[in-house]
Amino acid sequence: MSWKNDYDPKLIALVDQIDKQIAPRLAQIDAQIVENEAKVLASFQAHHVAESDLNGTTGYGHNDEGRDKLEAIYAEVLGGEDALVRPQFVSGTHAIGVGLLGLVRPGDEILYITGKPYDTLQEVLGLAGNGVGSPKEYGINVDYVDLLPNGEADLPAIKARLRPATKVVAIQRSRGYATRESFTVAKIQAMIQAVRAVMPDVWIFVDNAYGEFSETKEPLDVGADLMAGSLFKNAGGGYAKTGGYLVGRQDLIQRVSYRFTVPGIGGEEGATGTALRDMYQGFFVSPQTTGNAIKGAIFESALLDALGLTVSPKWDAPRTDLIQTVNFGNPEDMIKFAEAVQRHSPVDSFVTPIPEQMAGYEDQVIMAGGSFIAGSTVEFSGDGPLRPPYTLYMQGGLTFAHVKLAIIGAAQETFFGKQD
Ligand SMILES: *Cc1c(COP(=O)(O)O)cnc(C)c1O
Repeated sequence: MSWKNDYDPKLIALVDQIDKQIAPRLAQIDAQIVENEAKVLASFQAHHVAESDLNGTTGYGHNDEGRDKLEAIYAEVLGGEDALVRPQFVSGTHAIGVGLLGLVRPGDEILYITGKPYDTLQEVLGLAGNGVGSPKEYGINVDYVDLLPNGEADLPAIKARLRPATKVVAIQRSRGYATRESFTVAKIQAMIQAVRAVMPDVWIFVDNAYGEFSETKEPLDVGADLMAGSLFKNAGGGYAKTGGYLVGRQDLIQRVSYRFTVPGIGGEEGATGTALRDMYQGFFVSPQTTGNAIKGAIFESALLDALGLTVSPKWDAPRTDLIQTVNFGNPEDMIKFAEAVQRHSPVDSFVTPIPEQMAGYEDQVIMAGGSFIAGSTVEFSGDGPLRPPYTLYMQGGLTFAHVKLAIIGAAQETFFGKQD
């Protein structure tokens, strides 16, 4: 008996056809995994990672060699000079917030050039929420330039908007909950060149969440100064239990480290406790985990496209992050699909996700996915607001096989009737 016997033969025939169709694309991702893993492995070797580096420290965390080496590895692999990779970052939002706010001083301005920032960053930056502790209270202005209707950065408007007070130009690589496409590293390079043509010395910051290892280059390789991300996403590899990272120019890492802790201490303190082994192992497997998630997204895109749904990106389009969106066109199918994704999770498979009102959203949001690490989205998960065109944002997957099985199962239940 094969698992295939659980599904409608018509669906399985389609899956077999999709497998053939996407095989060359999956082979490209496999090659990319090797490219990225080679960089990581070489860096582990060059920094003489030893068993004792995995153990972590207590107290002040002075002379934490394992922490220092991990930061040197992040910097080397991701194209920076220095890094802060810490379990004390509660999330990617925290690391990104420390990066942005650590760079600026009263009178300065942060300008997002990729439209309105990701939901959680809107509160950090005072664009939403009650404004307590916002940059505005410190005399720091935050603004953004809208994207063009086609989802591209509006380079002429950005150039016109730059002014002497603009200290930081911020770019968000991944689409977040927006309908635009994610920005590839090549597109980020074009934005950086346009900005530098007007303001050569402005600091360019990239929110790199979901981006790490989804291409063979990173934003720092094409001229960004500082970038940050979450260890619940790609770079944590599914192993890191908590944390975030900042990587970039050495002087800027030092500058933001004073916001991370306090002036004087910066990154010199911060015990790693028991976190380092997972952080090392997670970064080591991250190229593979990211690749698995991308392969899963390609399968998902091809299958649901063949079933008549609108998907983005298409299976054969370039990718720069883990996110796959699918429009269901009606709330019933979207909910059914999300419920089935939950049912095919390794953890909490027996739980039914309920659409819920969430802070910062006008519509109810449904969230599906049972992960080993709470809320982790490098593990397979799907979520989205219940409003037309009823888009589910799906991402992650520790193994390709899991994403494949979950998508086939969800397609069966949503479009071929529930099997017993
Ligand atoms: C997930 C995400 C973040 C924040 O990361 P968390 O760890 O969830 O706080 C920031 N920006 C983008 C684009 C994201 O997708």
